[in-house]
Amino acid sequence: MPTGKKAPFWRFFVVRRKGGTARPDCSVKLPFMKPIVFLLALTALLPVVASGAEEFAVWQNKRYVLAYNPEGQPESISDTDVIDALAHAAQVWAPCGVAVVFGGFSHKPFDQLDGVNVMGWQKEIPGLLALTLPQYLRRILLDADIRLNRALIHDPATLRRVVAHEVGHALGLFDHSTDLDSLMNEKEFVRRGVDTPSAADLALCRARYNWK
Ligand SMILES: [Zn+2]
Repeated sequence: MPTGKKAPFWRFFVVRRKGGTARPDCSVKLPFMKPIVFLLALTALLPVVASGAEEFAVWQNKRYVLAYNPEGQPESISDTDVIDALAHAAQVWAPCGVAVVFGGFSHKPFDQLDGVNVMGWQKEIPGLLALTLPQYLRRILLDADIRLNRALIHDPATLRRVVAHEVGHALGLFDHSTDLDSLMNEKEFVRRGVDTPSAADLALCRARYNWK
């Protein structure tokens, strides 16, 4: 939604990463530019690859406040179901040492680097149950909105699993786990009905938030 406001200059320094398997946006339209852009990108990435740096970021005050925008909420899902799903996510990630806090109802749109984290419904997200867009600078998370796919989430149990998984991404676990029993496995958590982080998921999260 255009706001008419000019983006602050530092927005362009923010590294953006999409959760899930969505393709990154590509604004390069000229085919001959692609190899050049690719080579430039590769050169920029080399020091990161060479140092083996892991990509992650954290909420500096160990609090992730998430507001809820009910627009487009499916009829089979109630406000209470959403609040329950958020409370569940807060409870299961609490042993990591980071607080997940319900920030109330909001009509703010997604994908704004406004410091307000919003969870809401999108009409369709091709191939994905949900999509989380953590935005961060260095290793500090600034904004993480959660988009739920209203075409694929029809019942409170699925909602609960998906919210717990997406909150994991929003807390800084950007990558999917290969463990089949992990809440952060890309697909198995839905198929197996997993709605709680595994010991390994929590250990990974704790390792990121273990400063005093
Ligand atoms: Zn995911």
